[in-house]
Amino acid sequence: RGPGGQRGIPFNQPGSLTKVYAVASGKGGVGKSSVTVNLATALAAQGLRVGIVDADVYGFSVPALMGISQAPTRVDDMILPPVAYGVKVISIGMFVSGNQPVAWRGPMLHRALEQFLTDVYFGDLDVLFLDLPPGTGDIAISVAQLLPKAEILVVTTPQTAAADVAERAGAIATQTGQKVAGVIENMSYLDMPDGGRMELFGSGGGAVLTERLSASVGADVPLLGQIPLDIKLREGGDAGAPVVVGQPETAAAAALSGIATRL
Ligand code: ADP
Repeated sequence: RGPGGQRGIPFNQPGSLTKVYAVASGKGGVGKSSVTVNLATALAAQGLRVGIVDADVYGFSVPALMGISQAPTRVDDMILPPVAYGVKVISIGMFVSGNQPVAWRGPMLHRALEQFLTDVYFGDLDVLFLDLPPGTGDIAISVAQLLPKAEILVVTTPQTAAADVAERAGAIATQTGQKVAGVIENMSYLDMPDGGRMELFGSGGGAVLTERLSASVGADVPLLGQIPLDIKLREGGDAGAPVVVGQPETAAAAALSGIATRL
């Protein structure tokens, strides 16, 4: 068998044709996981073969956001990931009982990620997303070691303070030599019933972060899109039905689908 990668070439080997995106953020709660599941679902809906590794060990939420409650199945030494909306998903959350907090140290995280990448049978994939824990932790370093070709997507809010923290998460790419594929600004504004727009978290965070990351990595880092606050996005997440397929007519879904086409 060829674990994971396309044409039997593992994701972590040179020559793998799978595009790997590691989704990072400076802090929690900015919508990193919601963005990951919606981008993955949008690409799967276009017919691409897509997988997600939920590596947010302390705050794993991908299974719930995708409505997955079943555990992975085992065939011999292979782990078969559950599939939702055409996306193959593996999460640390599937290997702990109930809603237990995970208190692992760096080496255990590294080993878990390594095992996800080798023992989980994804088959051939066009795109693999890694939902990273917020911040610049051990996992980001492990990703750089295990998947040096992974490109970083940084999610931030329009708040410039949030962009400051996100910059540190993105700057790790400079040290590891990874490419920053782009910045995604979430919670950019709220469409008001009177037709106006309210910028609840201010504005400019995405643009500022894009400029700073471009300067620090020495390459053009694009702002891939701005996603509005949308009650349907939150409801879709709570219901385990990503908004890009559940409520595709909403502005948030349109923004997310637009970003997916730029990947
Ligand atoms: P993170 O992965 O960064 O911790 P989540 O994706 O879990 O963030 O999002 C945190 C909360 O904010 C969730 O309840 C989610 O539904 C909500 N949320 C995220 N983005 C939006 C948005 N654009 N509009 C409305 N709610 C959002």
